This record gives sequence, structure tokens and C-alpha cells, in this order.
Amino acid sequence: MSAAPEGAAAPATTPAAAPTTTAAGTAERAESRKPVILAVDDDPQVLRAVRRDLRSAYGDRYRVLGASSAADALKILDSLDERGHDPALFLVDQRMPDVTGVEFLLEAVSRFPDARRVLLTAYAETDAAITAINRVRLDYYLLKPWDPPHERLFPVLDDLLSDWLATYRPAYDGIIVAGHLVSPGTHAVRDFFTRNGQPFRFLNVERDPEALTVIAAAQADAALPLVRFPDGSVLAAPTDTELAQRLGLATTASRPHYECVIVGAGPAGLAAGVYSASEGLSTLMLDSRAPGGQAGTSSLIENYLGFPSGLSGGDLTRRATIQASRFGAEILHPVEVVSLTRDDPAKILTLADGTEISAETVLLATGVSYNRLEAPGADRFEGAGLYYGAATTESSACISQHVFIVGGANSAGQAAVHFAKYAARVTILVRAASLDASMSRYLIDEIDRTPNIEVKVRTTVTALHGGEHLERITLHDADTGGDREVPARFMFTFIGARPHTDWLAGVVERDEYGFVLTGSDLIANGGELPAEWSLERAPYPLETSVPGVFAAGDVRAHSVKRVASGVGEGAMAVSLIHRYRSMG
Ligand SMILES: Cc1cc2nc3c(=O)[nH]c(=O)nc-3n(C[C@H](O)[C@H](O)[C@H](O)COP(=O)(O)OP(=O)(O)OC[C@H]3O[C@@H](n4cnc5c(N)ncnc54)[C@H](O)[C@@H]3O)c2cc1C
Repeated sequence: MSAAPEGAAAPATTPAAAPTTTAAGTAERAESRKPVILAVDDDPQVLRAVRRDLRSAYGDRYRVLGASSAADALKILDSLDERGHDPALFLVDQRMPDVTGVEFLLEAVSRFPDARRVLLTAYAETDAAITAINRVRLDYYLLKPWDPPHERLFPVLDDLLSDWLATYRPAYDGIIVAGHLVSPGTHAVRDFFTRNGQPFRFLNVERDPEALTVIAAAQADAALPLVRFPDGSVLAAPTDTELAQRLGLATTASRPHYECVIVGAGPAGLAAGVYSASEGLSTLMLDSRAPGGQAGTSSLIENYLGFPSGLSGGDLTRRATIQASRFGAEILHPVEVVSLTRDDPAKILTLADGTEISAETVLLATGVSYNRLEAPGADRFEGAGLYYGAATTESSACISQHVFIVGGANSAGQAAVHFAKYAARVTILVRAASLDASMSRYLIDEIDRTPNIEVKVRTTVTALHGGEHLERITLHDADTGGDREVPARFMFTFIGARPHTDWLAGVVERDEYGFVLTGSDLIANGGELPAEWSLERAPYPLETSVPGVFAAGDVRAHSVKRVASGVGEGAMAVSLIHRYRSMG
């Protein structure tokens, strides 16, 4: 049994923090991390020959060490033990002056029980072989000489090493999350790390024995999930804020007033951050979750200009965040803005913890989030089989599973194509009669080409059932009017979009759905400006009903809901902010 690495998790051998060093030092460290093959023989010529052969065949993947006596070999084991390094295979001469090969192997396997054991001998010592097989569970008994090695030595060792590799889990010194595979708390923690591009390894407490070591390090009654950090400290069921503090993410602003405060760090906010900071405005960006917004959760954005093979939302976010920071923008997350008040000409933003930040101009780039599924059971199974978006966070949990995707827009299509790489089967459930009206052609074609994706049209989910996690869903067929219950452990919904604007009610004008009105949309049919508009001039494009407060991206009424449009509007908003600052 092994820990399943997360979608965004680092390879299990990723070092926590690599110190800066020379290329030679880096190569030396990489070499020292390879698993070890240890050859032990008291005849120097034989030892030299065996090491040469082993290096030629395995040197690229294994560190080949040699010892000319059992005593020297035990010292090597001591040092491997101390450094937490793993021997993969012992190749040991049976007849040595101090102790026999079997005696050495007895000691060696008591310390490294997973390593494979091969005994070398010049004689057909059947007794020794039987003893070794019984006492040390010998894997192979090899007669010297082993020439030619590619016929007599390597095939044997290839098999043994491949067996060893199948169960080998390299020591991992990064962040570990131990919890139930399907649980809201575990999902929230994994989602936080995934969104923040923080590598981690997940251990399933129901299946993974290694999880016990993490549980042992926590307090007896600690709630799951547990998060163990490289220094050994453990947080039980941590909140996003606790995790952010532990990771050293910035959550407090460095000054009380900024020329430009951007609320929301999705594509629109990030683009605005890059342009605002690069053009010299003191810039603060605030995001209630993590930079990237919806785009950050996308597995592959294929229609963004300049990336012909597509790029993942994680990559786009990381690049944009670095770019904005490099120009001097401050990015705080997870930090939620809960109110906007006017203190003309300044605007005051209040954060969830009560902190107030003053701004000369504000850009609202708070995007949208998915509508909640309206079906009995939906609340109960959120995070426990029912997920909103989160395709990249949960992909490894869905290996060989049947995944249901609800929705007919591009985000649903993209998620289906993504899951098809992991899951045994993906079923897209669409209310409409086809995907044609709601999904881009390139995605429809990709879905058609992918054999393990099926599309069920005119189908809706009407109920969710299960115990601790989702087990079944009821599907309603609009053509036949019939309902049927089908097994379902993983369902991801990508339906509708709700703007995050409740906190702006009564401050800026919004449409009936909550999208923020800007520019000419603010002027009523009779040509009147909103009552609270205090200036002679009409609002600039992207300007809201409060002078100096702009909106960009998905949150803006009538905007095109695309990454490129969000980026374009974010960039454009900054030029309008300059106009506002110079002309009022
Ligand atoms: C899975 C998926 C795949 C997609 N794929 C594509 C694609 O391939 N091509 C494409 O063009 N488009 C795609 N889209 C659409 C695209 O991602 C969105 O149009 C785009 O992200 C909108 O950007 P935005 O900055 O306006 O808002 P968002 O990306 O929604 O970002 C808004 C941010 O504001 C933050 N926020 C909200 N309220 C507050 C608050 N009160 N305080 C602080 N922060 C707050 C949120 O946490 C969020 O990070 C996809 C969307 C999804 C969900």
C-alpha cells in the first residue's frame, strides 16, 4: 500500500528547501539520494569486478557501494541508517574470513527488511543456500563467475530490483496531509495546498500504514486531517488562515493607504496588478482564497493567446503572481474583503478580521463561483464526493473510478477531458439537448475522441444518497420522464456562475443577478446617471457607480467570461485608473 501523490504534489523525493550550492554539489546530493546496491566480498579483484559491472548497468539509478569485509559493510549500513538512505539490494559473498555472508545478511535484513538479498559463492554450497533461504529469506543464490553479466547477473538483479521498486517509497521530507480520502475537511486542506502551488503528499488513514506515524506525532484526540510539516510539527484540522501563517504567506498589508487596491487575484486582478505596479502605483491585491481564481483551478487552458499547447491554470497563476510581485505589487491571501465604504475621495475596504485599508482607487475583480447544486443531499455531501470545480485537487483520488461531471460549458468539458486521464469512466450530465450551444468546438471534438467519456443529454441530478460520503445519485431523464439511481462516488459540478458581490449591496449598482454595472450600463434608458453618482462627467468604461471604483472580469455585468477577456479588462482598468487620478 502506498500514499497516492496529489495532482499538484511534488515528486516524493523533492527536497524541502534546497540550499544554494554549486553544480558539483547538486550532482553529489542527487547521487547520495539514489537507493544503494551494496556488494560485499573479501576478494579485492572480485569486488572491483562486481562493482564495475553493477555500475555499468545500474549506476544511473542506483549508488553502487562496496565493502571488503562484513565489518566494513556494517559500518556502511550504520551510515545509511543514520541518513535515512535506503539499500535496495545486498550482493554478498558467502565465504568471508570474519563472518559468513548468511550471518551478515541476517544482521542487514533485520535493519533493512525490504532490501533484496543475493548470495554469491564460488561453490555449489547447497546447505548454505538452504540455510540462507530459510533464515534470511534469500532471494537468489548466484554462482561465481557471473560472466557474461548481461546473461547471468543482470537478468536476476533486474527482476529483484523491479520487485523492490514496486514497493519502495522514498523518504519524503515535505508536507504530509493525513486524513480520509473523501471528507470535506481533507478536501479543504488539499485544495488550499493545490491552489497555492504548495507540494504535499497525501496519506489515506484508512489504507496507508505510514499515516500512523503522523497520527502518533499529534495529540491523542486531534481531529483529522493532520498536516505534518518538515520540522515535525503537526496541525490538526487547520483553517486556511492557520495554514497560510504556517507557510509564511503574507496576510497583512505593509501600509494603511494604497493608490490602487485590487480585490480578487484571478486573471483580471493579476493582470491589473502587473500593470498597476509596473506603472508605479502603490498596489495591493487581496484574495479570499488563493491567486488564480477560477483559472487557477483549470487543468489546461488551451485557448489563451501565445500558448499553442495550452497551459495549466497553476502555471498561469504562478507566472502572473511572480510577475506582479516583481513589479512591487503586494499580494495578500487568504484575505477576504467584507465591505467597501466611501470616505470621498478615499475608499475604505474592511477585511474579515476587521482591518481597514484606505485606497485612492479600487478595482473589483472578484469573479464568479459555481452555483450550488439544488438537489436533496447536495449540502450533506459537499467535499465528501460532491465538489464544485476542484478538478485538479481531486484528480488522484479518482484513479480508476467512475466520475460524473455536471454541466455543459467549457469548464465542464475541460474537467471531463482531464479526469479521463485518471478515471476509468467519465459521464457528463447535461440538461440541454446537446453541448453545441454551450461548449467550444475544440472541446466537443476532444470529448468525441476520448473513448472513456460519455455524454448524457437532457439529464439532471435530482438527489444524492449515501452514508458518510456520496454513494449514489438519482438521474432524471427529461425525455422519458423516468428517474433512476446509479452508483456514484465522485461528482464534480460546473453549473452556472454566481458573482461574489453581496458585500457590495447598497454601495455599487448591480444587475438583478448581482453582476456589477459599469460605464454606459449605468446610464438608464432615459439617459440618467445613478443617484449616487457625484460627478459632472459620465462614468468611464469599467467604472462603477462610485467614482474611482472600477470592475473587471467575470464580476462585471455583460463581460465575456474568458481568461483573455479578464486579462484584457484588468489591463484596461489600470489605464482608466490613471485617467481618473489625473482628471478626476
Ligand atoms: C475549471 C475552469 C476552466 C476554465 N477554462 C477556461 C479556458 O480554458 N479558457 C478561458 O478563456 N476561460 C476559462 N475559464 C473561465 C475563466 O477562468 C474565467 O473567465 C476567469 O478566471 C475570470 O477571471 P476573473 O479574474 O474575472 O475572476 P476569477 O477567476 O473568478 O477570480 C476572482 C477571485 O476573486 C476572489 N474573491 C472573490 N470575492 C472576494 C472577496 N470578497 N475578497 C477577496 N477576494 C475575493 C476569489 O477568491 C477569486 O480568486 C475556466 C473556468 C473554470 C472554472
